[in-house]
Amino acid sequence: MTAHETDKYVYDFAEGNKDLKDLLGGKGANLAEMTNLGLPVPPGFTITTGACQAYLATGREPDGLAGQIEAHLEALERAMGRRLGDPQDPLLVSVRSGARFSMPGMMETVLNVGLNDRSVVGLSDQAGKNDRFAWDSYRRLIQMFGKTVCEVPGEEFEHALDEAKRAKGTHDDLDLDADDLRGLVETYKKIFAKHTGREFPQEPREQLDLAIRAVFESWNAERAILYRRQERIPADLGTAVNVVAMVFGNLGPDSGTGVAFTRDPGSGAQGIYGDYLANAQGEDVVAGIRNTVPLQELERLDKTSYDQLLDIMARLEGHYQDLCDIEFTIERGKLWMLQTRVGKRTAAAAFVIAGQLVDEGLIDLDEALHRVNGAQLAQLMFPRFQLDHEFEAVAQGIGASPGAASGAVVFTSARAVELAAEGKSVILVRRETNPDDLNGMIAAQGILTSRGGKTSHAAVVARGMGKTCVSGADGIEVNVPAKRFTVGGHTVSEGDVVSIDGTTGKVYLGEVPVTPSEVVQYFEGTLDPERTDDALVRAVHRIMTHADARRRLAVRTNADTGADAARARRFGAEGIGLCRTEHMFLGDRRELVERLILAATDAERTDALAALLPLQRQDFVEIFREMAGLPVTVRLIDPPLHEFLPPLEQLAVNVAVAQERGEDVAKEEALLAAVRRMHEENPMLGLRGVRLGLVIPGLFAMQVRAIAEAAVAVTRDGGTACPEIMVPLVGAVQELETVRAEAEKIIAEVVGDSGVEVLIGTMIEVPRAALTAGQIAEAAQFFSFGTNDLTQMGWGFSRDDVEGAFFWRYLELGIFGISPFESIDRDGVGRLIRIAAEEGRAARPGLKLGVCGEHGGDPDSVHFFHEVGLDYVSCSPFRVPVARLEAGRAAIETTGSDSR
Ligand code: PEP
Ligand code: MG
Repeated sequence: MTAHETDKYVYDFAEGNKDLKDLLGGKGANLAEMTNLGLPVPPGFTITTGACQAYLATGREPDGLAGQIEAHLEALERAMGRRLGDPQDPLLVSVRSGARFSMPGMMETVLNVGLNDRSVVGLSDQAGKNDRFAWDSYRRLIQMFGKTVCEVPGEEFEHALDEAKRAKGTHDDLDLDADDLRGLVETYKKIFAKHTGREFPQEPREQLDLAIRAVFESWNAERAILYRRQERIPADLGTAVNVVAMVFGNLGPDSGTGVAFTRDPGSGAQGIYGDYLANAQGEDVVAGIRNTVPLQELERLDKTSYDQLLDIMARLEGHYQDLCDIEFTIERGKLWMLQTRVGKRTAAAAFVIAGQLVDEGLIDLDEALHRVNGAQLAQLMFPRFQLDHEFEAVAQGIGASPGAASGAVVFTSARAVELAAEGKSVILVRRETNPDDLNGMIAAQGILTSRGGKTSHAAVVARGMGKTCVSGADGIEVNVPAKRFTVGGHTVSEGDVVSIDGTTGKVYLGEVPVTPSEVVQYFEGTLDPERTDDALVRAVHRIMTHADARRRLAVRTNADTGADAARARRFGAEGIGLCRTEHMFLGDRRELVERLILAATDAERTDALAALLPLQRQDFVEIFREMAGLPVTVRLIDPPLHEFLPPLEQLAVNVAVAQERGEDVAKEEALLAAVRRMHEENPMLGLRGVRLGLVIPGLFAMQVRAIAEAAVAVTRDGGTACPEIMVPLVGAVQELETVRAEAEKIIAEVVGDSGVEVLIGTMIEVPRAALTAGQIAEAAQFFSFGTNDLTQMGWGFSRDDVEGAFFWRYLELGIFGISPFESIDRDGVGRLIRIAAEEGRAARPGLKLGVCGEHGGDPDSVHFFHEVGLDYVSCSPFRVPVARLEAGRAAIETTGSDSR
């Protein structure tokens, strides 16, 4: 006997259980589980994923499979007291796919296998001389079999069905009588023969084998391959095949079919939720042929089945310890369970149900934490549109910062500020934003850009503020001078109202009504979880408290203002992981910065720096006060230089116009010459970060002094300040050493005996820094991974361009399942982080490690940062709760307390 012949490829339902999903697929494992619970499941068997894998590898059924199917079929026939396709009293079976992971609608199903020209008569007899039912079942088999097994174009069958209805003068399938359906079977058979070159197979076992093979092959259908790539489902799992005795819900008014949930999958509320359709089969429910009735109606129609169903649902919930969804059929008053699984649910229901199950003693808090996730929490934190009425999106962009916002369109920052001051809601619409738009962004309810991705300026800043933003809506043509934009034939002028959904990226004309988030009110401290009867808030509070108790990673925030810092603290931040100081050089201070950059003499530069120093110091005082002794990582200035200079083209035009008019433009000409000199083709790879600090004397020194003086001032006032100075864009240890030497001198001088301690560390955001982390750690007291730049430079993807430009195609092709700017690319960029963490800590044991790129608030990335042993993640204030939750989940997953 060869090894293959001993492989077991077929399992009776009585042999499996719910934990065998790898082998039996989700559907098969759960059918087995229900069978073993003694629930009324039609008898059947499951062909394993291993058989499918073997078939796909060799192109033929593995040895032994045919014999095992034969044996299980015989057992099934014995159990049913009928033979497959028997002319007098046929057993019919369904052949259904069922993979390890649910792949809705991706693979095939064939019903009514076993029907042929002779057994159709036997079926009619079985059904009490119901010819109509029998011929309808037969035509369904030819249609499904033709389409899925033999690739006959489905439209041809649809067309023939429509023809039959037209001939009868009706739109309703139910008006076709037995003779009409018999005629339709003949037509279907002709269609089948025309496309396949053979007659419709009459041999039941041949039908069964071909249907099984078709399900195997559907694993590699193009749509299934694409779906797997996108969902990151491994390509080699294969699908199981379930062969199940048919039961019929369409045998008359005492039959029917339905779906049900053991709790409300929308809100999590306890109760019975479902739909029922009398005298129908499952696919009729999906096709919407007739309207379903609420499941409660079944109590009136068939009380015995209803009571039995309720009893089964309670048992299933207790058994799976979770919300279950089920499919059932009633055949002439007898209830059959066709499927169950742990049901999908909304974000709110996930929290509420997890909390309820803890109360009911069915699961513990670790398990509750495991069953919710950060993406769900994030969804619950944004105001939502109430899209009950029909609103049609006019443009689709990138959901860059979630939320829902409506307001009057404005095209400049100044106008946004003006209208907001009048108490109006505004949406700032720009081609792309830049630091000059900051005031407008603060004033606006939401931001809409026609260019840029998820890490564009608009997106990052909006997320930082928790403000709704749709970026890269490239269907929109923005015309700022004309104060209007056009989109798909509509023209929207300043003052017109639009609504933007920062979660879906959709843009609507007019005002869509919005509901605020109660979960944010809880985090803000305005809704007391002990007093509210809001089940969601209570559940969120309970699970968050547990996540905090479990997590190892600390969670800090990215904040540049006292107000952001204060909000982040309310949301649970344990410090600031990134204070971007370039944002402090805008507005009124911009002119000083321009003077500094363009200074022709030392004196001019020193003057500009001296004017900036007290302003910076005050910025830091506010932040240190707000953070009250928690660590604050202040990053020395890191703008691409062009952000601080007037735009070259505009300046050139102004100068040309002024010259034309004969005006004195000596000063403007000098400015233009300087801007030209400093113009860069690739500003993101140019004079920024530490490079700027090394090129402009005194700039970093001024900032270091401001930080140290602010810390001393706060301490002298009786507070505590823990500043950590961070040097951006370091690629070589020598850069860091140079900055550090100067900084240490200033710190020593300012701090004196005040007791203030200032750490000096670096960002790791240039691949070279990650690869020389051992050297860099000698000069750094901490590392913070700047994963935005590390992704940009690791992949060579311009962070402001690529997401809007071509990522859609990469996602479609499955090159990646999610943008690497959104979720850390573990294999590439993640590897750089791993190397840097290991080599950094080898060189300096106990080196503090954090991350402050956008990934710090991404659920999956948080798990990665936990795994590589970072000390903290830092993210925008609104992401802080998400990071806390995911850090807790990461901790329980690695300690193995996952009980499922
Ligand atoms: C980063 O690059 O990840 C980072 C945090 O810095 P910035 O986004 O300001 O370049
Ligand atoms: Mg960076």
